[in-house]
Amino acid sequence: MPELPEVETMKRALELRLTGRRFAQTIQRRPDLRWPLPAQLPQRLAGRRVEAFGRRAKYIQLFLDDGQVVLLHMGMSGRLIFDGNPQGAHEHLTFSFDDGTVLRFVDPRRFGALDLTTVEDLPRHRLLAGLGMEPLGNAFSGLELADAFRNRIVAVKLALMDQKLVVGVGNIYASEALFRTRLNPATPAGAVPAAVLDLLAENVRAVLGEAIEAGGSSLRDYVQADGELGSFQNLFKVYDRAGKPCLVCETPIVRSVQGNRATFFCTRCQSIDHAS
Ligand SMILES: [Zn+2]
Repeated sequence: MPELPEVETMKRALELRLTGRRFAQTIQRRPDLRWPLPAQLPQRLAGRRVEAFGRRAKYIQLFLDDGQVVLLHMGMSGRLIFDGNPQGAHEHLTFSFDDGTVLRFVDPRRFGALDLTTVEDLPRHRLLAGLGMEPLGNAFSGLELADAFRNRIVAVKLALMDQKLVVGVGNIYASEALFRTRLNPATPAGAVPAAVLDLLAENVRAVLGEAIEAGGSSLRDYVQADGELGSFQNLFKVYDRAGKPCLVCETPIVRSVQGNRATFFCTRCQSIDHAS
């Protein structure tokens, strides 16, 4: 599943290629993805110019010249592919633009989504209302985390991954940010001291930023052809490294399960009692 850094990378790739372009033709091959596609989608896009791009959580936003906004979500397996060859049965939407650019929406599992709304209705859109704080937003800080985590006994890793509290921090980035913060993933969220939350916010932002940068290095390939995004794997210090030596202290990394998701951490580095 694309995580936030990949979605941000996709947004930047789209921005580079499509800003100022007009939709020429849209071919829609089925009535729905995860949800029904908007009625008259090809007609409503035809001739519209893409003026700007935005992102909220994993929703990419295309702002059109008539006040419409396209919301795009990649779901579990969605990919956007520029140009190249048709992708067969899983290519559900094909957008052609006035300069000849072709964008293909490919989604084998069909958990992706596309909706049309307007600038006015965007803040109240059912898919965006109720989302938690944006970890790459300017306001994201230890203070914001402290507000969200106050009195919560749920494990800090699960709180960090709760989309109603913080959006877009998936399993990988939560594990990595907690490792950098030297914070045990099972610590109750409400018990993490303010100074440690400051550090945690910084580390979440740093991990996501580095992943975006790593994706950025493959941005050109992505834009050119096949939709493959950069690999972030060489950034992982704990994620998916069970049994391998911690890169700081050489203690074998432990895998545990929290909320049905695998958690990877170093029992030594992440055992500091921050409260003392
Ligand atoms: Zn360690």
